Amino acid sequence: MTLGMDLYDVYQHRQIKRVQRQLGIEASSTDQRMRNTRDEIDRLHDRIDRLVLVNEAMWELLCECTGLTEEHLRHRMEGLDRSDGAVDGRRRPQAAVCECGAMVNARARICLFCSADAPARTAFDGL
Ligand SMILES: [Zn+2]
Repeated sequence: MTLGMDLYDVYQHRQIKRVQRQLGIEASSTDQRMRNTRDEIDRLHDRIDRLVLVNEAMWELLCECTGLTEEHLRHRMEGLDRSDGAVDGRRRPQAAVCECGAMVNARARICLFCSADAPARTAFDGL
């Protein structure tokens, strides 16, 4: 009986070790994915910060060279925001009608019904 329990204990011990190894591997790969996600978020924040800086610099140059003011900018931003039917701090690209009559999603490059190029939009709509 004692020998039976010992073999059972050894078997259990091996099973536990195997599961711990598997969990350890899974935990470390999850940790790695978390680190990769954090790194990607940090890179995106850096890009956004850089884009804000570039936009601000361009805006200051525009103001200096054209006489445009902050009031002009705010007025235009409000108009664009309102143009999609919702005042929510952004302009959502709108679907457009294809030459075949189908509606084409704002981010689609071609019509799903006839494969024609998506209707012309502003350069910002595809972003
Ligand atoms: Zn079409």
